[in-house]
Amino acid sequence: MNYKQLEDFYLFLLSKNSKIPCTKHGQYDAKKGIQICKYKNNYNIGFVADKNNCIVLDCDFDIQRNLNGVETLKKLEYELGTLPDTLTQSTPRGGKHLIYKDTGIKNPIGKIGKDVDIKYRGYITIEPSSINGAKYKFTNGIDKNGNFIIAELPNSWLNYINKTKNNFYKTIDVNNNNYQRKIINGNFQKMYEKCAFIKHCVDNASVLDEISWFYFACVLNSLSNGESLFDLYSRPHKDYDPILVNKKFQNAKKYNVNCNTISRCFAECKFCVYNQGGNYAK
Ligand SMILES: [Zn+2]
Repeated sequence: MNYKQLEDFYLFLLSKNSKIPCTKHGQYDAKKGIQICKYKNNYNIGFVADKNNCIVLDCDFDIQRNLNGVETLKKLEYELGTLPDTLTQSTPRGGKHLIYKDTGIKNPIGKIGKDVDIKYRGYITIEPSSINGAKYKFTNGIDKNGNFIIAELPNSWLNYINKTKNNFYKTIDVNNNNYQRKIINGNFQKMYEKCAFIKHCVDNASVLDEISWFYFACVLNSLSNGESLFDLYSRPHKDYDPILVNKKFQNAKKYNVNCNTISRCFAECKFCVYNQGGNYAK
């Protein structure tokens, strides 16, 4: 690995064997041109995300402490679409840092799922650092000439990561896999009339955002004819694809989402008639 190109980034020194800064102002002392080869035997290296116009998806991993952000990220990719290849490093305990450009990032949330943090106004420890002999190591995002590839995040991910007034995102428990749903013979027409969220999904079917679409799949999973309804109301969408839509519907089975959950972010469902244990049979 040639560390020369890292020297074009804002870096600062951390104490050997640790993530603790060893300059007076820590990450605020970051500068370009830190000579990695000169320091790498006696210091670790800090990489400041926002100052480098980057954002980092930081997946924790520790079997003993039951941390598995790598798995969470895979699940999120299922909801939001596959992430593009980008500069990625493995961390000493088996976690991962995915480094993206911050294009389109405004006021990001701090955590995007169980054990996955966003590092933006902060720093990460970067290769060639090590902790107790275990190394930070680039595993992806280096082209055949040895240059870094730092990709941009797709829109669905930007929408998920940027804080917005109306985002539903933080209410999903992406690790709730054991949910047993009660299937009922609900009356969809009645649901459309009585639930503002359902109305929102149907009326905006052609431009529905990714997360509403997913929540809609969760709700329709409660209906015995939900699968065909979900397909029908997904057809106007610009990204409609019958196989993808079915996958989305099947995947939504795992999540306990109802008007009660939705009301935490979609205010209209706060007083929704279905906001009572999510019973759509009424
Ligand atoms: Zn509702």
